Amino acid sequence: MRIRVVLTFVMLFATFLSVAQTAPSSSSSEFPKQIPSFDLTAMDKTADPCVDFYQYSCGSWMKNNPIPPDQSRWGRFNELSDNNLYILRDILEKAQAPGQHTAIEQKVGDYYSSCMDEATIEKKGAAPLQPAMQRIAAVKSKQEIIPEVANMHRDGIAALFTFNSMVDMHDSTMTIANLDQGGLTLPDRDYYIKDDAKSVETRQRYLEHVQKLFELAGDKPDVAAAEAKTVLAVETGLAKAAMDRTERRDPKKRDHPMQVTEIAAAAPSFELVQYFADNGSPKFTSLNVGNPDFFKAVNEQLKTIPLDDWKTYLRWRTLDTYAPTLSKAFVDEDFEFGRKYMAGQKEIEPRWKRCVRSTDRNLGMALGELYVDKVFGPDSKARTLKMVQAIEQAMHTDVGQLTWMSDTTKQQAYVKLQAIVNNIGYPDKWRDYTTVVVARDDYAGNATRAAAFEVQRQYNKIQKPTDRKDWNMSPPTVNAYYRPWMNDINFPAGILQPPFYGNNMDDAVNFGAIGVVIGHELTHGFDDQGRKYDAEGNLKDWWTPEDAKAFEQRATCTADEYSSFVAVKDDKGEVHLNGRLTLGENTADNGGLKLAYMALMNIIGNTPVKPIDGFTPQQRFFIAYGQIWCQNVTDQQARVLAITDPHSPGRWRVNGAVQNSAAFQEAFSCKAGQPMVREPACRVW
Ligand SMILES: [Zn+2]
Repeated sequence: MRIRVVLTFVMLFATFLSVAQTAPSSSSSEFPKQIPSFDLTAMDKTADPCVDFYQYSCGSWMKNNPIPPDQSRWGRFNELSDNNLYILRDILEKAQAPGQHTAIEQKVGDYYSSCMDEATIEKKGAAPLQPAMQRIAAVKSKQEIIPEVANMHRDGIAALFTFNSMVDMHDSTMTIANLDQGGLTLPDRDYYIKDDAKSVETRQRYLEHVQKLFELAGDKPDVAAAEAKTVLAVETGLAKAAMDRTERRDPKKRDHPMQVTEIAAAAPSFELVQYFADNGSPKFTSLNVGNPDFFKAVNEQLKTIPLDDWKTYLRWRTLDTYAPTLSKAFVDEDFEFGRKYMAGQKEIEPRWKRCVRSTDRNLGMALGELYVDKVFGPDSKARTLKMVQAIEQAMHTDVGQLTWMSDTTKQQAYVKLQAIVNNIGYPDKWRDYTTVVVARDDYAGNATRAAAFEVQRQYNKIQKPTDRKDWNMSPPTVNAYYRPWMNDINFPAGILQPPFYGNNMDDAVNFGAIGVVIGHELTHGFDDQGRKYDAEGNLKDWWTPEDAKAFEQRATCTADEYSSFVAVKDDKGEVHLNGRLTLGENTADNGGLKLAYMALMNIIGNTPVKPIDGFTPQQRFFIAYGQIWCQNVTDQQARVLAITDPHSPGRWRVNGAVQNSAAFQEAFSCKAGQPMVREPACRVW
């Protein structure tokens, strides 16, 4: 049901959108479409901005833009991502056509072509699975399980636990090895543990899905049914040993430097010394263990669960990973459960879109190089940098004005702010994919080799100085991120265009859109996670105890505010947002809105600016912010996101933030007691 999950814990960096954001499809044939930054037709002017600002900004858009049948959510981000898919398809179709090509064009063109060649994929059926499945079948003893897990990890197949490189939390100049919990198929441990009606139903559907895929792989129905039960039982054991997602937000809970000998002795059944020797990583003697208790608990399970059950689980993880790259029957079943049942998506996306996404996922820095050449003008970097500097200046002023923070802590905050590195558009150095073998008639093999390349690339960082120039997102990605251990903010080229940034738009609109994104990423350096890292990216406390306490009090206000919001209400009941899971993102939204507004006011100053379309610049700023979040989401997808996504849904990203904003209330003349006026307001930054 998933794409290869190579780097599960890398997701912990703070993004603007959920990383799993699916982009979209549209019935229009004209691409790329023009997406307006400020859209009068999106608004619902019958709504009162002081009662429901989201409805006011987006009401007509939501009514006129139902979710396309091949999507589970549809918003203005998706419109932009969709445009990018068309641009990327154009690049890939030219690259796969006969003629003279550069090495990069040849590689991405061959990859895309192998994915589009459904006839060859169909003819192969389940054959691409066989080498991996036979390897597992040949495992003869429990001692051979871990070496096989090492093989699977090298091919990018998530199983049992995770291993990767990470920046040393105590010396960010170095990158070290990291061992962590993992091995689940469903999106969160809650799905295995909770007993509400929806969770029970999901597990039943999951059993049916696992059975179907085993049958497609050649097992008899009664055998496959028993295998499904085994998979669920093994994964439930892993889920019970895993740390909760919200708890994991605290970096201190994932901070366990250990000697290899120490963790190997604490969990002997994992044969970790052997695993590290076999897995292709450089030699090391110490590492970080994200969750030592997981290894201790699963150590017992390795002893008590029979060998055949472990083999069934490993076969399942292989099958689940390969399914999207195999013949139609596998792809369809993968869709039926993973997208249709879990996310409420009615139809599968057209093949070409899935193939563009796959190329971007697996060879993203090669495809991105071609994309940047085509769409990212030389002035784009300079003008973005100018906005970033204006907003950094606003943050400096904001910190200076805080009444709850001492001068001692303020000085440290300035040092951290000053040290933030701004990465804009694309990396300085392009990734070299020369060693990835791509064959036109082997899609599953290409996907595996590309995943293996990425795994090895990450392993190779272990015991080396930290590579601060490496990016976590490909340039066409419509998203942005902050990395606390690098203290850097990153804006891929994909997001630096309308509706986020328009050359022809007034400052009010650009600051309300991309300006808030920039302010959001900056604020991540100072949210509940980011504040625990210093200017160099080390996990080091630079706060006085009183200031830390004041921060926590303010953060609790924000957490309680968002916990009161309803994420979804349907026949299976009502789900609230988890204010602690979404705390960092909500803090960043509130801070980002404030900083971008301050930066805009610094530019506008006291010079009177004429209203445009009947709106003052102040009003246009907030409407532009509201409108980047216009979206519709299926109930099913909203449920998954409420459990897994550290970001709040669009409605609450808008209404949750503006109700804390005095500038917003002034711009729309809101009165005390109205829903968009929170008393007292929650304010961290
Ligand atoms: Zn964020």
